[in-house]
Amino acid sequence: MIEDSSTAGLAQRYFRQTREMYGDTVYTDQSFLADFPKTNESLDEFEQEINQCMRCALGETRIKFVFGVGDPHSDIVFVGEAPGREEDRQGEPFVGRAGKLLDKILAAIHMNRNQVYICNVLKCRPPDNRTPSADEIATCMPYLEQQLSIIDPKLIVALGATAAHSLLSVRASLAQLRSKLWKWNGYDMVITYHPAALLRNPNYKRPAWEDFQWIQRMLQD
Ligand code: URA
Repeated sequence: MIEDSSTAGLAQRYFRQTREMYGDTVYTDQSFLADFPKTNESLDEFEQEINQCMRCALGETRIKFVFGVGDPHSDIVFVGEAPGREEDRQGEPFVGRAGKLLDKILAAIHMNRNQVYICNVLKCRPPDNRTPSADEIATCMPYLEQQLSIIDPKLIVALGATAAHSLLSVRASLAQLRSKLWKWNGYDMVITYHPAALLRNPNYKRPAWEDFQWIQRMLQD
C-alpha cells in the first residue's frame, strides 16, 4: 500500500492504527499533537477527536467533557480554569454564577458569548472544584494549545491565575500580571481577574473593568 506522508495522511494513519488497537475510543497523546501545531481541521473535528479523553483520572469522574463555546472564528478567546459543577452537568463553560457575571461583563463591552470563544485550561471538572494539579494541567494543555491554534485569535484573555500561570512560565500575582500585553506563542495575550474572584472580592471589580475596557479598545484597533 502507498502511504500518504502529508499531514492529513499521517493523521489518518495514526487514527486508523489507534482504532485497530483501542476501538472507537481515541487516545491522543501529547507528542502526536506536538507534531501538528497548525492543521486545517475544524474545531468540531478536534472536539470529536478528544471528547472521550481518559488521559487523566478526571475522565473517570466527569459527567461531561467541556470543550468550549462560541464563535470558532472569533478574534478573542477567553480562557478560564476548569469546569465547575454546572459546567460539568451542561457540557458548556462558564454557565454557573461566575459565567453569569462573565456574560454581564461581556454585555457591558457590547459582546455576547456567541461572538467570542470561551474555554478552560482543563476540559474536565476536578472533584469538588479543587485547583487543578500540575499534572492535570500538563496533560490537558496540548488540547488548549491546539484549540487556540485552530481558532487563531487576535487576542487571548487569561481569566485568573491558573490560566495565566498555565499559559505563561512567569509566576506573579494577578495584580502584577494584569494591564500588560503578553505574548503567548506569538499571540497577544492579556491577563485579568477570574469572574469568580470578582464575586468573592468586590475590590477587584474596578481594575477588572479597566482591563475589559482596554480589551474592547484593542479589538477595535
Ligand atoms: N470557572 C472556570 O474557570 N471555568 C468555568 O467554565 C466555570 C467556572
